[in-house]
Amino acid sequence: MRRTVIAGNWKMNMTPSQTKAFITELAPMVAGMDKCDIVLCVPYVDIATAVEAAKGTNIKIGAENVHFAESGAYTGEISAAMLKEIGTEYVVIGHSERRQYFGETDTTVNLRTKAALAAGLKVILCLGEVKDERLNGITNEIVRMQTKLDLLGVSAEEMKNVIIAYEPVWAIGTGLTATPEQADETCGVIRGALCELYGCEVAEATTVQYGGSMNDANAAELLAKVNVDGGLIGGASLKTDKFTAIVKAANA
Ligand code: PEP
Repeated sequence: MRRTVIAGNWKMNMTPSQTKAFITELAPMVAGMDKCDIVLCVPYVDIATAVEAAKGTNIKIGAENVHFAESGAYTGEISAAMLKEIGTEYVVIGHSERRQYFGETDTTVNLRTKAALAAGLKVILCLGEVKDERLNGITNEIVRMQTKLDLLGVSAEEMKNVIIAYEPVWAIGTGLTATPEQADETCGVIRGALCELYGCEVAEATTVQYGGSMNDANAAELLAKVNVDGGLIGGASLKTDKFTAIVKAANA
């Protein structure tokens, strides 16, 4: 059956020294909580420190983005091979902040996803509707379309290394959370799209997380839903006690 995955997305927070201190503090707090995978997705410059600090623990390390080319004239970008060589296991792709502020489209998200998978990285693919789309009742159409566009050309075999993070954009960093029912329903719609693409066996085996102001107070209710297989957590992943409480909820 599919794994529950609790992943932190640090965004543009934490220096390497803060990273080392954070993981050193977190590791004993989450030790033995093995009913879920625990991932921290951190800024590029923190990855090497994070990988070193997480050695011998149950914490896995990811990046927050990756470029789609293997190498070349892309000043300021980072390739999948570079990430892989320094011990990165996961990568977040298509986060709404990348789509909103850095011009990411479903086309570039798809290219990045394929490049990351080809290099042997596990992808946390983010998608979700904006507020107007939910208010206009087209959430299901939007997430179905994003799922299908973002995964174009990704094989059923490669889906073993794909996690979908359903992140309603209106809930990210706003303190607004989808209700457990909304999260369950929309994660289920995404699973339905996966079933159409790959067959229901693959869909049932794919982890679909919820993300959007998940915290220590609401995690248990959200994670209790049958279609919610974990969380992608921004703000609350920056505090060891709050992040541990979410991991604990996933281990209950
Ligand atoms: C995120 O960054 O993916 C996220 C869900 O952020 P927050 O938990 O702060 O809403």
